[in-house]
Amino acid sequence: MRTPLVAGNWKMHGDQARLVDLSREIVTANVSTADVLVCPPFVYLAAISEAIQGSSIHLGAQDVADQQQDGAFTGEVSAAMVADLGCDFALVGHSERRALYGDTNQRVATKFLAAQAAGLCPVLCVGETLEQRQQGATDSVVGEQLDAVLAAAGIAAFANAVVAYEPVWAIGTGQTATPEQAQEVHANIRARIAEQDATIAAQLRILYGGSVKGANARDLFSRQDIDGGLVGGASLKADEFIQICEAAG
Ligand code: PEP
Repeated sequence: MRTPLVAGNWKMHGDQARLVDLSREIVTANVSTADVLVCPPFVYLAAISEAIQGSSIHLGAQDVADQQQDGAFTGEVSAAMVADLGCDFALVGHSERRALYGDTNQRVATKFLAAQAAGLCPVLCVGETLEQRQQGATDSVVGEQLDAVLAAAGIAAFANAVVAYEPVWAIGTGQTATPEQAQEVHANIRARIAEQDATIAAQLRILYGGSVKGANARDLFSRQDIDGGLVGGASLKADEFIQICEAAG
């Protein structure tokens, strides 16, 4: 009932020629097991939009401005601008934005609202640090990250959103959460949403992110509440990303 989604986050990697080639390889694979989303750097969105045109691949931004109106916000890129280039998704609250660029729970909520106002489906990233996990604070940290968006946007907004659980300690480290660890948090996220609306919770796609690879994807995606993945490093290798997409569904 929930179509799996596999999203590639290309972060600040590559150049135009390489990323266009990568996109074409993903298009050619014609994955039918999952919805497939690619999130290139902003400056390559137009080129990738053209490369995937006519395919079923979705295009996403890695972030959006928290401002909904045009204005004097030098260096920012609005949700409306990326929608104009063909995006239908946007990541908000990626842990690198939270840790390196000061995105607080409140700002992430504002970005979530801005994405939806522009017609994009936000992929809300949540997750705890290693220290928070060791302190037994995973559920409270993830709960606060979710609650900030629920308070700002309301439960109905989650009918058109995706949540990505990405334990910070697993991102780019090669240290993947075990399927059991991930499933436990995913089930708790779904239960928290279900407290407000059981139907929306049942339909909500919750992705796992953190060192997903071809070798571990199937085991992770087979768990009840894991509806696909948000993939960083492995999404830059066409063969491996396609293998991950095929492991979903
Ligand atoms: C990410 O960038 O969101 C991510 C999960 O990266 P990686 O797959 O490299 O851990």
